[in-house]
Amino acid sequence: MADKAYNAFDMAQTQFDRVADLIGLDAGTRELLRYNLREYHVSIPVRMDDGSVKVFRGYRVQHNDARGPAKGGVRFHPAETIDTVRALAMWMTWKTSVVDIPLGGGKGGVICDPHNLSMREQELICRGWVRQLYSDMGPLRDVPAPDVMTSAQHMLWMLDEFELIRGERLPGFITGKPVGMGGSLARTEATGYGLVFTLREALKGLGIPPRETRASVQGFGNVAQYAIDLYHQISGKVICVSCWDQADRTSYSFLKEDGVDLAALRGITDRFGGIDKAKAGKLGYEVLPGEAWLEQDADILIPAALEHQITKENVGKISSRVKVIAEGANGPTSPEADKVIHERGIFVIPDLLANAGGVTCSYFEQVQSNMNYFWEKDEVLGKLDTKMTSAFNAVSDLARKRKLYMRDAAYVIAVGRVAQACKDRGWV
Ligand code: NAD
Repeated sequence: MADKAYNAFDMAQTQFDRVADLIGLDAGTRELLRYNLREYHVSIPVRMDDGSVKVFRGYRVQHNDARGPAKGGVRFHPAETIDTVRALAMWMTWKTSVVDIPLGGGKGGVICDPHNLSMREQELICRGWVRQLYSDMGPLRDVPAPDVMTSAQHMLWMLDEFELIRGERLPGFITGKPVGMGGSLARTEATGYGLVFTLREALKGLGIPPRETRASVQGFGNVAQYAIDLYHQISGKVICVSCWDQADRTSYSFLKEDGVDLAALRGITDRFGGIDKAKAGKLGYEVLPGEAWLEQDADILIPAALEHQITKENVGKISSRVKVIAEGANGPTSPEADKVIHERGIFVIPDLLANAGGVTCSYFEQVQSNMNYFWEKDEVLGKLDTKMTSAFNAVSDLARKRKLYMRDAAYVIAVGRVAQACKDRGWV
Protein backbone atom coordinates (compact mmCIF):
# COMPACT_ATOMS: atom_id res chain seq x y z
CA MET A 1 0.00 0.00 0.00
CA ALA A 2 1.20 3.53 -0.81
CA ASP A 3 1.11 4.97 2.69
CA LYS A 4 2.04 3.14 5.90
CA ALA A 5 -0.54 5.01 7.98
CA TYR A 6 -3.20 4.03 5.49
CA ASN A 7 -5.32 1.12 6.75
CA ALA A 8 -7.45 -0.27 3.96
CA PHE A 9 -10.03 -1.84 6.28
CA ASP A 10 -10.55 1.46 8.16
CA MET A 11 -11.14 3.12 4.80
CA ALA A 12 -13.55 0.38 3.65
CA GLN A 13 -15.52 0.67 6.90
CA THR A 14 -15.59 4.48 6.71
CA GLN A 15 -16.95 4.31 3.15
CA PHE A 16 -19.52 1.79 4.27
CA ASP A 17 -20.62 3.94 7.25
CA ARG A 18 -21.20 6.87 4.89
CA VAL A 19 -23.45 4.79 2.65
CA ALA A 20 -25.20 3.21 5.63
CA ASP A 21 -26.09 6.75 6.80
CA LEU A 22 -27.18 7.74 3.31
CA ILE A 23 -29.64 4.84 3.01
CA GLY A 24 -30.64 4.84 6.67
CA LEU A 25 -29.52 1.26 7.25
CA ASP A 26 -30.81 -0.27 10.49
CA ALA A 27 -28.33 -0.99 13.28
CA GLY A 28 -28.38 -4.80 12.94
CA THR A 29 -27.68 -4.85 9.19
CA ARG A 30 -25.04 -2.18 9.63
CA GLU A 31 -23.27 -4.23 12.27
CA LEU A 32 -23.41 -7.33 10.07
CA LEU A 33 -22.04 -5.66 6.93
CA ARG A 34 -19.33 -3.61 8.67
CA TYR A 35 -17.48 -6.86 9.39
CA ASN A 36 -16.71 -10.06 7.56
CA LEU A 37 -18.99 -13.04 8.01
CA ARG A 38 -16.08 -15.45 8.32
CA GLU A 39 -12.33 -15.32 8.26
CA TYR A 40 -9.75 -18.08 8.37
CA HIS A 41 -6.12 -17.81 9.47
CA VAL A 42 -4.03 -20.78 8.43
CA SER A 43 -0.45 -22.00 8.75
CA ILE A 44 1.11 -23.73 5.77
CA PRO A 45 4.24 -25.79 6.45
CA VAL A 46 6.45 -26.19 3.38
CA ARG A 47 9.55 -28.36 2.94
CA MET A 48 11.83 -25.88 1.18
CA ASP A 49 14.29 -26.79 -1.56
CA ASP A 50 17.18 -26.65 0.94
CA GLY A 51 15.49 -29.29 3.14
CA SER A 52 14.35 -26.90 5.90
CA VAL A 53 10.70 -26.40 6.85
CA LYS A 54 9.20 -22.94 6.59
CA VAL A 55 5.73 -22.09 7.83
CA PHE A 56 3.75 -19.53 5.80
CA ARG A 57 0.73 -17.67 7.18
CA GLY A 58 -2.32 -17.48 4.98
CA TYR A 59 -5.83 -16.03 5.08
CA ARG A 60 -9.24 -16.38 3.52
CA VAL A 61 -11.93 -13.85 4.32
CA GLN A 62 -15.57 -14.26 3.28
CA HIS A 63 -17.14 -10.86 3.75
CA ASN A 64 -20.66 -11.72 2.66
CA ASP A 65 -22.34 -14.49 0.68
CA ALA A 66 -26.02 -13.55 0.97
CA ARG A 67 -26.28 -13.05 -2.83
CA GLY A 68 -24.19 -16.10 -3.80
CA PRO A 69 -20.86 -17.85 -3.19
CA ALA A 70 -18.04 -15.56 -2.06
CA LYS A 71 -15.73 -14.51 -4.89
CA GLY A 72 -12.29 -12.96 -4.85
CA GLY A 73 -8.60 -13.36 -5.56
CA VAL A 74 -5.70 -14.85 -3.63
CA ARG A 75 -2.67 -12.56 -3.23
CA PHE A 76 0.92 -13.62 -2.59
CA HIS A 77 2.71 -10.67 -1.01
CA PRO A 78 5.46 -10.26 1.63
CA ALA A 79 3.61 -7.32 3.20
CA GLU A 80 0.15 -8.91 3.16
CA THR A 81 -1.97 -8.06 6.20
CA ILE A 82 -5.30 -9.36 7.40
CA ASP A 83 -6.73 -5.83 7.29
CA THR A 84 -5.90 -5.48 3.60
CA VAL A 85 -7.55 -8.83 2.90
CA ARG A 86 -10.61 -7.82 4.96
CA ALA A 87 -10.98 -4.57 3.03
CA LEU A 88 -10.57 -6.22 -0.34
CA ALA A 89 -13.13 -8.88 0.59
CA MET A 90 -15.66 -6.17 1.51
CA TRP A 91 -15.01 -4.27 -1.74
CA MET A 92 -15.59 -7.50 -3.68
CA THR A 93 -19.05 -7.80 -2.10
CA TRP A 94 -19.94 -4.32 -3.36
CA LYS A 95 -18.41 -4.95 -6.79
CA THR A 96 -20.30 -8.19 -7.48
CA SER A 97 -23.45 -6.53 -6.21
CA VAL A 98 -23.23 -3.36 -8.32
CA VAL A 99 -22.96 -5.42 -11.53
CA ASP A 100 -25.73 -7.67 -10.18
CA ILE A 101 -24.03 -11.04 -10.52
CA PRO A 102 -25.12 -13.78 -8.09
CA LEU A 103 -21.91 -13.81 -6.05
CA GLY A 104 -20.68 -12.41 -2.75
CA GLY A 105 -17.28 -11.06 -1.75
CA GLY A 106 -14.14 -12.75 -0.49
CA LYS A 107 -10.37 -12.40 -0.63
CA GLY A 108 -7.36 -14.46 0.34
CA GLY A 109 -3.66 -14.10 0.77
CA VAL A 110 -0.42 -15.71 1.83
CA ILE A 111 2.48 -13.79 3.36
CA CYS A 112 5.30 -14.75 1.02
CA ASP A 113 7.49 -13.28 -1.69
CA PRO A 114 7.31 -15.31 -4.91
CA HIS A 115 10.48 -13.55 -6.16
CA ASN A 116 12.43 -15.61 -3.58
CA LEU A 117 10.57 -18.90 -4.00
CA SER A 118 11.10 -21.67 -6.54
CA MET A 119 8.11 -22.82 -8.57
CA ARG A 120 8.09 -26.06 -6.54
CA GLU A 121 7.90 -24.09 -3.28
CA GLN A 122 5.08 -21.92 -4.68
CA GLU A 123 3.22 -25.06 -5.76
CA LEU A 124 3.47 -26.44 -2.21
CA ILE A 125 2.11 -23.15 -0.80
CA CYS A 126 -0.85 -23.32 -3.21
CA ARG A 127 -1.59 -26.94 -2.34
CA GLY A 128 -1.11 -26.30 1.40
CA TRP A 129 -3.47 -23.29 1.29
CA VAL A 130 -6.17 -25.47 -0.30
CA ARG A 131 -5.59 -28.37 2.15
CA GLN A 132 -6.23 -25.97 5.04
CA LEU A 133 -9.31 -24.38 3.52
CA TYR A 134 -10.99 -26.87 1.17
CA SER A 135 -13.82 -27.75 3.56
CA ASP A 136 -14.91 -24.09 3.70
CA MET A 137 -14.59 -23.36 -0.02
CA GLY A 138 -15.89 -24.76 -3.31
CA PRO A 139 -17.96 -23.84 -6.40
CA LEU A 140 -21.06 -23.31 -4.29
CA ARG A 141 -19.36 -21.63 -1.31
CA ASP A 142 -16.32 -19.57 -2.15
CA VAL A 143 -14.47 -19.27 -5.46
CA PRO A 144 -10.88 -17.93 -5.58
CA ALA A 145 -9.10 -16.26 -8.51
CA PRO A 146 -5.63 -14.90 -9.37
CA ASP A 147 -4.56 -11.59 -7.89
CA VAL A 148 -1.29 -9.86 -6.99
CA MET A 149 1.61 -12.22 -7.85
CA THR A 150 -0.59 -15.27 -8.49
CA SER A 151 -1.26 -16.56 -12.00
CA ALA A 152 -3.20 -19.13 -14.00
CA GLN A 153 -0.54 -21.69 -13.01
CA HIS A 154 -1.19 -21.09 -9.29
CA MET A 155 -4.92 -21.51 -9.94
CA LEU A 156 -4.35 -24.85 -11.67
CA TRP A 157 -2.28 -26.17 -8.74
CA MET A 158 -5.02 -25.07 -6.34
CA LEU A 159 -7.71 -26.65 -8.49
CA ASP A 160 -5.75 -29.89 -8.79
CA GLU A 161 -5.34 -30.15 -5.01
CA PHE A 162 -9.05 -29.43 -4.45
CA GLU A 163 -10.07 -32.06 -7.01
CA LEU A 164 -7.65 -34.62 -5.55
CA ILE A 165 -9.19 -34.17 -2.11
CA ARG A 166 -12.77 -34.23 -3.41
CA GLY A 167 -12.13 -37.09 -5.84
CA GLU A 168 -14.01 -35.41 -8.71
CA ARG A 169 -13.55 -32.77 -11.39
CA LEU A 170 -14.86 -29.42 -10.13
CA PRO A 171 -13.48 -26.72 -12.46
CA GLY A 172 -15.98 -24.18 -11.09
CA PHE A 173 -13.93 -24.13 -7.86
CA ILE A 174 -11.60 -21.47 -9.21
CA THR A 175 -11.37 -18.89 -12.00
CA GLY A 176 -8.49 -17.39 -13.95
CA LYS A 177 -7.59 -20.78 -15.39
CA PRO A 178 -5.83 -20.94 -18.76
CA VAL A 179 -8.06 -21.11 -21.84
CA GLY A 180 -8.31 -24.81 -22.74
CA MET A 181 -8.09 -25.80 -19.06
CA GLY A 182 -11.40 -24.27 -18.02
CA GLY A 183 -10.56 -20.61 -18.61
CA SER A 184 -12.86 -18.21 -20.46
CA LEU A 185 -12.06 -16.48 -23.71
CA ALA A 186 -11.92 -12.66 -23.35
CA ARG A 187 -10.90 -12.72 -19.67
CA THR A 188 -7.69 -10.91 -20.65
CA GLU A 189 -9.60 -8.10 -22.32
CA ALA A 190 -12.50 -8.04 -19.84
CA THR A 191 -11.47 -5.35 -17.33
CA GLY A 192 -10.20 -2.81 -19.88
CA TYR A 193 -13.09 -3.44 -22.30
CA GLY A 194 -15.60 -3.36 -19.44
CA LEU A 195 -14.28 0.07 -18.45
CA VAL A 196 -14.79 1.40 -21.97
CA PHE A 197 -18.33 -0.02 -22.17
CA THR A 198 -19.15 2.18 -19.16
CA LEU A 199 -17.18 5.13 -20.58
CA ARG A 200 -19.08 4.85 -23.90
CA GLU A 201 -22.38 5.02 -21.99
CA ALA A 202 -21.17 7.96 -19.89
CA LEU A 203 -20.22 9.95 -23.02
CA LYS A 204 -23.59 9.11 -24.57
CA GLY A 205 -25.34 10.48 -21.47
CA LEU A 206 -23.23 13.64 -21.53
CA GLY A 207 -23.88 14.12 -25.24
CA ILE A 208 -20.17 13.99 -26.15
CA PRO A 209 -19.19 12.05 -29.30
CA PRO A 210 -16.17 9.79 -28.47
CA ARG A 211 -14.38 10.92 -31.66
CA GLU A 212 -14.21 14.45 -30.24
CA THR A 213 -12.49 13.29 -27.03
CA ARG A 214 -8.89 12.81 -25.91
CA ALA A 215 -7.83 10.71 -22.94
CA SER A 216 -4.80 10.46 -20.67
CA VAL A 217 -4.07 7.16 -18.95
CA GLN A 218 -2.05 6.18 -15.89
CA GLY A 219 -0.55 2.70 -16.32
CA PHE A 220 0.18 0.58 -19.35
CA GLY A 221 -0.58 -2.91 -18.04
CA ASN A 222 -3.48 -5.26 -18.66
CA VAL A 223 -6.31 -2.87 -17.79
CA ALA A 224 -4.83 0.20 -19.50
CA GLN A 225 -3.83 -1.55 -22.73
CA TYR A 226 -7.24 -3.11 -23.34
CA ALA A 227 -9.04 0.08 -22.31
CA ILE A 228 -6.98 1.99 -24.88
CA ASP A 229 -7.65 -0.71 -27.49
CA LEU A 230 -11.44 -0.43 -27.23
CA TYR A 231 -11.44 3.35 -26.75
CA HIS A 232 -9.51 3.60 -30.04
CA GLN A 233 -12.12 1.33 -31.64
CA ILE A 234 -14.87 3.79 -30.66
CA SER A 235 -12.76 6.58 -32.24
CA GLY A 236 -11.25 8.17 -29.13
CA LYS A 237 -7.69 9.48 -29.07
CA VAL A 238 -5.21 8.72 -26.25
CA ILE A 239 -2.56 11.41 -25.95
CA CYS A 240 -0.64 10.25 -22.88
CA VAL A 241 0.17 7.05 -20.97
CA SER A 242 2.38 6.55 -17.95
CA CYS A 243 4.15 3.61 -16.35
CA TRP A 244 6.66 2.54 -13.72
CA ASP A 245 10.31 2.30 -14.78
CA GLN A 246 11.92 -0.51 -12.78
CA ALA A 247 15.51 0.46 -13.68
CA ASP A 248 15.10 4.12 -12.64
CA ARG A 249 12.69 3.27 -9.79
CA THR A 250 10.36 6.07 -10.82
CA SER A 251 7.44 6.57 -13.16
CA TYR A 252 7.31 8.42 -16.49
CA SER A 253 4.59 9.75 -18.75
CA PHE A 254 4.74 9.43 -22.54
CA LEU A 255 3.02 12.20 -24.47
CA LYS A 256 2.02 12.28 -28.14
CA GLU A 257 -0.41 15.07 -28.98
CA ASP A 258 -1.53 13.44 -32.23
CA GLY A 259 -2.36 10.17 -30.45
CA VAL A 260 -0.41 7.16 -29.16
CA ASP A 261 0.08 4.14 -31.40
CA LEU A 262 -1.02 1.20 -29.23
CA ALA A 263 0.66 -1.55 -31.28
CA ALA A 264 3.97 0.32 -31.47
CA LEU A 265 3.95 1.05 -27.73
CA ARG A 266 3.11 -2.58 -26.91
CA GLY A 267 6.11 -3.58 -29.00
CA ILE A 268 8.46 -1.70 -26.64
CA THR A 269 6.74 -2.70 -23.36
CA ASP A 270 7.85 -5.48 -20.99
CA ARG A 271 5.50 -8.02 -19.39
CA PHE A 272 5.15 -5.81 -16.29
CA GLY A 273 3.76 -2.92 -18.35
CA GLY A 274 7.02 -0.93 -18.37
CA ILE A 275 7.72 1.08 -21.56
CA ASP A 276 11.32 1.37 -22.85
CA LYS A 277 11.82 5.15 -22.65
CA ALA A 278 14.77 5.36 -25.04
CA LYS A 279 12.79 3.55 -27.74
CA ALA A 280 9.71 5.65 -26.97
CA GLY A 281 11.81 8.80 -27.49
CA LYS A 282 12.89 7.49 -30.90
CA LEU A 283 9.24 6.88 -31.80
CA GLY A 284 8.52 10.56 -31.18
CA TYR A 285 7.07 10.41 -27.65
CA GLU A 286 7.86 13.23 -25.28
CA VAL A 287 9.11 11.59 -22.04
CA LEU A 288 7.77 13.53 -19.02
CA PRO A 289 7.71 13.02 -15.23
CA GLY A 290 5.37 10.32 -13.91
CA GLU A 291 2.64 12.69 -12.72
CA ALA A 292 2.33 14.52 -16.05
CA TRP A 293 -0.47 12.16 -17.19
CA LEU A 294 -2.75 13.87 -14.65
CA GLU A 295 -2.09 17.40 -15.92
CA GLN A 296 -2.86 16.86 -19.59
CA ASP A 297 -5.36 18.88 -21.54
CA ALA A 298 -7.67 15.87 -21.95
CA ASP A 299 -11.41 15.24 -21.70
CA ILE A 300 -11.01 11.89 -19.98
CA LEU A 301 -8.63 10.63 -17.31
CA ILE A 302 -8.19 6.89 -16.79
CA PRO A 303 -6.17 6.01 -13.68
CA ALA A 304 -5.37 2.32 -14.30
CA ALA A 305 -2.21 1.64 -12.31
CA LEU A 306 -2.39 1.78 -8.51
CA GLU A 307 -4.45 2.85 -5.52
CA HIS A 308 -4.08 6.33 -3.93
CA GLN A 309 -2.86 8.24 -7.03
CA ILE A 310 -5.16 11.27 -7.20
CA THR A 311 -4.69 12.98 -3.85
CA LYS A 312 -5.30 16.36 -2.21
CA GLU A 313 -1.73 17.31 -3.21
CA ASN A 314 -2.20 16.83 -6.97
CA VAL A 315 -5.96 17.08 -7.60
CA GLY A 316 -5.57 20.82 -8.34
CA LYS A 317 -3.43 19.95 -11.37
CA ILE A 318 -6.33 18.34 -13.22
CA SER A 319 -7.09 20.41 -16.33
CA SER A 320 -10.35 22.36 -16.58
CA ARG A 321 -11.00 20.44 -19.83
CA VAL A 322 -11.47 17.11 -17.96
CA LYS A 323 -15.10 15.97 -18.01
CA VAL A 324 -14.87 12.28 -17.09
CA ILE A 325 -12.67 10.18 -14.78
CA ALA A 326 -13.02 6.41 -15.30
CA GLU A 327 -11.31 4.51 -12.49
CA GLY A 328 -9.58 1.37 -13.80
CA ALA A 329 -7.49 0.83 -10.67
CA ASN A 330 -8.96 0.01 -7.28
CA GLY A 331 -9.09 3.06 -4.99
CA PRO A 332 -7.05 5.47 -7.18
CA THR A 333 -8.70 8.57 -5.66
CA SER A 334 -8.25 9.62 -2.05
CA PRO A 335 -11.40 10.77 -0.19
CA GLU A 336 -10.07 14.40 -0.04
CA ALA A 337 -9.38 14.49 -3.78
CA ASP A 338 -12.75 12.88 -4.43
CA LYS A 339 -14.46 15.78 -2.66
CA VAL A 340 -12.72 18.29 -4.94
CA ILE A 341 -13.58 16.27 -8.07
CA HIS A 342 -17.21 16.10 -6.94
CA GLU A 343 -17.34 19.89 -6.36
CA ARG A 344 -15.83 20.54 -9.79
CA GLY A 345 -18.65 18.55 -11.37
CA ILE A 346 -16.40 16.03 -13.11
CA PHE A 347 -18.35 12.89 -14.00
CA VAL A 348 -16.77 9.92 -12.19
CA ILE A 349 -17.21 6.26 -13.13
CA PRO A 350 -16.18 4.78 -9.77
CA ASP A 351 -13.79 1.83 -9.48
CA LEU A 352 -16.33 -0.69 -8.20
CA LEU A 353 -18.33 -0.15 -11.39
CA ALA A 354 -15.65 0.80 -13.95
CA ASN A 355 -13.32 -2.14 -13.30
CA ALA A 356 -15.98 -4.78 -12.58
CA GLY A 357 -15.58 -6.29 -16.07
CA GLY A 358 -12.90 -8.62 -14.70
CA VAL A 359 -15.03 -10.21 -12.02
CA THR A 360 -18.02 -10.31 -14.37
CA CYS A 361 -16.00 -12.35 -16.85
CA SER A 362 -14.76 -14.54 -13.97
CA TYR A 363 -18.41 -15.20 -13.18
CA PHE A 364 -18.90 -16.20 -16.85
CA GLU A 365 -15.88 -18.51 -16.51
CA GLN A 366 -17.43 -20.13 -13.46
CA VAL A 367 -20.76 -20.61 -15.26
CA GLN A 368 -19.01 -22.14 -18.29
CA SER A 369 -16.88 -24.39 -16.04
CA ASN A 370 -19.91 -25.58 -14.09
CA MET A 371 -21.72 -26.39 -17.36
CA ASN A 372 -18.55 -27.77 -18.97
CA TYR A 373 -19.58 -25.84 -22.08
CA PHE A 374 -17.50 -22.93 -23.32
CA TRP A 375 -18.68 -19.90 -25.28
CA GLU A 376 -17.10 -18.16 -28.27
CA LYS A 377 -15.25 -14.91 -27.59
CA ASP A 378 -17.94 -12.75 -29.22
CA GLU A 379 -20.57 -14.32 -27.00
CA VAL A 380 -18.54 -13.58 -23.85
CA LEU A 381 -17.92 -9.97 -24.92
CA GLY A 382 -21.56 -9.48 -25.88
CA LYS A 383 -22.71 -10.68 -22.46
CA LEU A 384 -20.07 -8.50 -20.80
CA ASP A 385 -21.29 -5.44 -22.68
CA THR A 386 -24.89 -6.15 -21.65
CA LYS A 387 -23.97 -6.54 -17.97
CA MET A 388 -21.69 -3.49 -17.81
CA THR A 389 -24.14 -1.29 -19.73
CA SER A 390 -27.09 -2.17 -17.54
CA ALA A 391 -25.02 -1.74 -14.36
CA PHE A 392 -23.87 1.68 -15.59
CA ASN A 393 -27.43 2.70 -16.49
CA ALA A 394 -28.78 1.64 -13.09
CA VAL A 395 -26.13 3.71 -11.29
CA SER A 396 -26.41 6.78 -13.50
CA ASP A 397 -30.24 6.71 -13.40
CA LEU A 398 -30.14 6.66 -9.61
CA ALA A 399 -27.51 9.41 -9.54
CA ARG A 400 -29.72 11.57 -11.75
CA LYS A 401 -32.99 10.86 -9.93
CA ARG A 402 -31.63 11.37 -6.43
CA LYS A 403 -29.00 13.97 -7.39
CA LEU A 404 -26.24 11.75 -6.03
CA TYR A 405 -22.56 11.70 -6.87
CA MET A 406 -21.87 8.66 -9.09
CA ARG A 407 -19.69 6.98 -6.43
CA ASP A 408 -22.42 7.36 -3.83
CA ALA A 409 -25.04 6.06 -6.26
CA ALA A 410 -22.93 2.96 -7.00
CA TYR A 411 -22.51 2.27 -3.28
CA VAL A 412 -26.18 2.89 -2.55
CA ILE A 413 -27.15 0.26 -5.12
CA ALA A 414 -24.44 -2.22 -4.11
CA VAL A 415 -24.95 -2.01 -0.34
CA GLY A 416 -28.73 -1.81 -0.73
CA ARG A 417 -28.87 -5.10 -2.69
CA VAL A 418 -26.70 -6.95 -0.17
CA ALA A 419 -28.67 -5.55 2.78
CA GLN A 420 -31.92 -6.63 1.08
CA ALA A 421 -30.56 -10.16 0.48
CA CYS A 422 -29.60 -10.43 4.19
CA LYS A 423 -33.09 -9.26 5.18
CA ASP A 424 -34.87 -11.56 2.72
CA ARG A 425 -32.92 -14.52 4.08
CA GLY A 426 -34.05 -13.57 7.57
CA TRP A 427 -30.53 -12.86 8.82
CA VAL A 428 -31.31 -9.38 10.12
P1 NAD B 1 -0.53 -4.53 -14.40
O1 NAD B 1 0.45 -5.03 -13.41
O2 NAD B 1 -0.77 -5.31 -15.66
O3 NAD B 1 -0.14 -3.03 -14.87
C1 NAD B 1 0.12 -2.02 -13.95
C2 NAD B 1 0.64 -0.82 -14.73
O4 NAD B 1 0.79 0.27 -13.83
C3 NAD B 1 2.01 -1.05 -15.35
O5 NAD B 1 2.05 -0.44 -16.62
C4 NAD B 1 2.95 -0.33 -14.40
O6 NAD B 1 4.16 0.11 -15.03
C5 NAD B 1 2.08 0.84 -14.01
N1 NAD B 1 2.52 1.52 -12.79
C6 NAD B 1 2.92 0.98 -11.63
N2 NAD B 1 3.27 1.95 -10.76
C7 NAD B 1 3.05 3.12 -11.40
C8 NAD B 1 3.22 4.47 -11.06
N3 NAD B 1 3.67 4.84 -9.85
N4 NAD B 1 2.91 5.43 -11.97
C9 NAD B 1 2.46 5.08 -13.20
N5 NAD B 1 2.29 3.82 -13.59
C10 NAD B 1 2.59 2.85 -12.70
O7 NAD B 1 -1.88 -4.34 -13.58
P2 NAD B 1 -3.38 -4.36 -14.11
O8 NAD B 1 -3.88 -5.76 -14.09
O9 NAD B 1 -3.47 -3.56 -15.36
O10 NAD B 1 -4.13 -3.61 -12.91
C11 NAD B 1 -4.08 -2.19 -12.76
C12 NAD B 1 -5.03 -1.77 -11.66
O11 NAD B 1 -6.34 -2.24 -11.95
C13 NAD B 1 -4.73 -2.31 -10.25
O12 NAD B 1 -5.14 -1.34 -9.32
C14 NAD B 1 -5.63 -3.52 -10.14
O13 NAD B 1 -5.93 -3.83 -8.79
C15 NAD B 1 -6.85 -3.01 -10.86
N6 NAD B 1 -7.72 -4.06 -11.39
C16 NAD B 1 -7.27 -4.98 -12.27
C17 NAD B 1 -8.13 -5.95 -12.75
C18 NAD B 1 -7.68 -6.96 -13.77
O14 NAD B 1 -8.52 -7.75 -14.22
N7 NAD B 1 -6.42 -6.96 -14.19
C19 NAD B 1 -9.47 -5.99 -12.32
C20 NAD B 1 -9.92 -5.02 -11.41
C21 NAD B 1 -9.03 -4.05 -10.96
